[in-house]
Amino acid sequence: MTKLLPIEENGQTVGYFFDCPGCQGGHAVHISPHKNGIGASWTFNGDMEKPTFSPSILSRYTFTNQPMQVCHSFVVDGKIQFLNDCTHSLAGQIVDIPDL
Ligand SMILES: [Zn+2]
Repeated sequence: MTKLLPIEENGQTVGYFFDCPGCQGGHAVHISPHKNGIGASWTFNGDMEKPTFSPSILSRYTFTNQPMQVCHSFVVDGKIQFLNDCTHSLAGQIVDIPDL
C-alpha cells in the first residue's frame, strides 16, 4: 500500500500527490529543490508510508458559482492535520492519509 504517487518530470521524481479526504481530491507537493508553477516547494522526510512535508500545505480553489474553498493542513508522520481555516467538514481534525 502506498499513500504517495510520484510526480515525474523528464524521468525524475519532483514531488508527490496524496489523496485529501477533505477535498475529495488530491494535493501535489513539489519537493525542494523542485518547485511548482508558483515557485513553492516543500521538504520531505523520505518516508513513503509515514510522510512528513514542511511547511504547511495551503490550497485555495473555486467551483463555478461557489464561494472560495480553502484546504490548509500539516502533513506529519502520515497524518493530515487540517487547520481551522479549512472550509470543508474535516477542519480541525487529524486523519490518516488514505492509501491510494
Ligand atoms: Zn484538501
